[in-house]
Amino acid sequence: MFKFRTDFNCCKTVNCENFGVVKSEDYIPQSRRLGYLSIECKLCGSNCPWINNELVNGIVKEKLDFQFARKLTHCPKCHQYFFFSERTDSKLHGFTSAGTQRKKCCACRTIYTVQNYKNIEALKLVLASIIANKEIRESIKASGLSARLYYFYLDKLSSIFANFSRLHEEEVMERSYLAMHTEGRVIKLDHKRGMYSLITSEVDSGYILLNSNNLTRQSVVDYYIYDESENTIITSNESDNLENVLTNRYQQNMSRNHFEQLLVGELKPVTKCNLIYPDKLAYIHFQLLNAFSRKADKYDHYIEHESTLRSGALMAAYEDIKKSNADVYFFVPFLNSREKLQGKKIGWWKDRWFSNELGAICPITCKLTDSADIKLHHSDSIDLFYTYIDQHMNKGINSINVIDQLSEIHRVIFNYCDLKNNTTRAITLGVAPQVYTPESLLQDALKMIMS
Ligand SMILES: [Zn+2]
Ligand SMILES: [Zn+2]
Repeated sequence: MFKFRTDFNCCKTVNCENFGVVKSEDYIPQSRRLGYLSIECKLCGSNCPWINNELVNGIVKEKLDFQFARKLTHCPKCHQYFFFSERTDSKLHGFTSAGTQRKKCCACRTIYTVQNYKNIEALKLVLASIIANKEIRESIKASGLSARLYYFYLDKLSSIFANFSRLHEEEVMERSYLAMHTEGRVIKLDHKRGMYSLITSEVDSGYILLNSNNLTRQSVVDYYIYDESENTIITSNESDNLENVLTNRYQQNMSRNHFEQLLVGELKPVTKCNLIYPDKLAYIHFQLLNAFSRKADKYDHYIEHESTLRSGALMAAYEDIKKSNADVYFFVPFLNSREKLQGKKIGWWKDRWFSNELGAICPITCKLTDSADIKLHHSDSIDLFYTYIDQHMNKGINSINVIDQLSEIHRVIFNYCDLKNNTTRAITLGVAPQVYTPESLLQDALKMIMS
């Protein structure tokens, strides 16, 4: 089983000797020198906001269980997670009294039953109601199922789609090179409810790899529960001058209480769960992205120009950055800039910015001499997915389970069914042989899981 990083309180200045090092003698833990709780590195003078490791680690586990658990295929004992635990072989092992195939794990000898769905019609009805995007109560009525059965099959459908996509993703993620792109979005629901989501795509295909939100089922002390009305999201102004746009973004960052204090406006809570602050989600989301990066020989991560995401991305890729196998960059989309930035120092940290016809790029972990060959052609994929979710997710939802299940179902439908330039992102990534409709996707997913 893969080991996640568990301590995030360290220096995050890339060229400092203490970068990523935990428990250095140069640190003043829980310093209040700048008016917020931080870890001060005396060597470089940085004050990174103090992180509650326990909170982050607990929610990493919760999100791992939802996003990557192998609920439907392979040995449930020694092969719990996609990507993070190694696949083990199994042999056919007779049938249950009900006639369902059993298998025996070759590694731990556990005997388990292959999933068998008898009521495929119910799954189809639930899928149809999701595509129709009606109020949940109307959906239940239209499906003809009882509420209890509707939620039961919604959960099953989400697992089936998730397992289908993760099984295929696993096959293509062992590769020599991977580039990912991550941005955050606020998803608004009725009655001022909503959530902050981090969305990551694979750059060459625009395939959405991971979509996680700041909702948690865990009990969280009040101090860590998101309850704000202020909005400190950094936005690009309308200027036609790229340098002005970037300078303005740094100014917005400096007007915060501290540089990682990302607030996203008022979000009323969804029932039976808690909202956490976006900066915590960043650490969690990037840890989970190790699923995709850990088997790539080399990877690059392009992230939104946001200090909070910077810290999360650096901590998740730390080991690989040290080995020069990974690099992290800021990316700000800006089409066809008239001026060309070639390493211009901008902002408080004097970051060096480069530009090409698609936008501005700032290397965080490496030196860059030119950015002409960095092409994020599908960088609009996150926007397209966000718009898709916004249009297809019913705004009346008030349940973390339903939000998570629908988010995952829509991620898979968007990747496998939504057409761009006459093809799907799943085909471009190499995980699908054909364009799917949601119905044919369900059919193939069931075939795969029940075999
Ligand atoms: Zn330092
Ligand atoms: Zn096993």
